[in-house]
Amino acid sequence: MVSGTLLAVFALICSPCLAAVHYWVDYDCYAMPMATEAIAEAILMAQRSYDRLSNAANDPDIQILFSRIYHTTINDRRAVEHVRRIMYGIANIKEVLSREESNTIIYCDNDARWQPVPGQATFPGGTQEWFDVNDPHFRFVGRPSCKDGSTSAVTYKAPNHHPLFSTGLAQVTICNIGVSRTRSTIAHHDYFDWSLGSLMYNPEWSSMNPYDTASVTVLHEFTHLPDFGILDVPPDPYWWHNIIRKPTGQALMNADNYAFFGLLAHLGDYGFKLSDREWKAGVITRSTYRPGGRPR
Ligand SMILES: [Zn+2]
Repeated sequence: MVSGTLLAVFALICSPCLAAVHYWVDYDCYAMPMATEAIAEAILMAQRSYDRLSNAANDPDIQILFSRIYHTTINDRRAVEHVRRIMYGIANIKEVLSREESNTIIYCDNDARWQPVPGQATFPGGTQEWFDVNDPHFRFVGRPSCKDGSTSAVTYKAPNHHPLFSTGLAQVTICNIGVSRTRSTIAHHDYFDWSLGSLMYNPEWSSMNPYDTASVTVLHEFTHLPDFGILDVPPDPYWWHNIIRKPTGQALMNADNYAFFGLLAHLGDYGFKLSDREWKAGVITRSTYRPGGRPR
């Protein structure tokens, strides 16, 4: 039992921290430098989101960005604290050097570790129970998402009968298609002129596809980790034109709202922001404002 006073003091000291995520990167990912770069930049996007929200009173671009993505103003303290808390937690996830120390494992095996549980009937669409050959307690019913060939990344949460369920054990797979994108990170393609396209990808416009940037996808997946509990809120949880329509309560629970916020918060470091006039179309423009704290 913890006394109320002690709990209050702890909450005060700890705010806005969450339980720690310790992640371990499986060996396959080291054969794909884009994957490890994307992980690092996803964490940086979360850090920059936290930094800029903490300095929002002096940052006109982040004020406007917050209102576009979360459908409320920067004066909505509850909403701002919610986003800051999630971004702080992701910014402070720690890499560990062994699987045993971790509660989050990042794989780049295209879900090859998942094998069908023997003797199970297979349902249409390949739905059945699968187990992880590295950890047979880790099971799920469905279909390993990378195997469909169109999923960029996926998060698996340990079933509640897993011995390590209480540690928040989870796995993220960065699928092959996720690491074969044209821009793994903003940093890797810093010559790219983001003001030439729109976040609303349409091949007929020859516009950019925000999901081509693997770090955006990884940030999306990190919000799904058990510590953070952010979901894909139906209907239409993906793509810019859908996420900006979500009312505040849904936007605060939808992974892509965080992914786009992180992308745009970090693009501010490169001198870009949402267009004031064409933001609904996801148009990005150059900004004269330079957020402090992290020069390029
Ligand atoms: Zn998702």
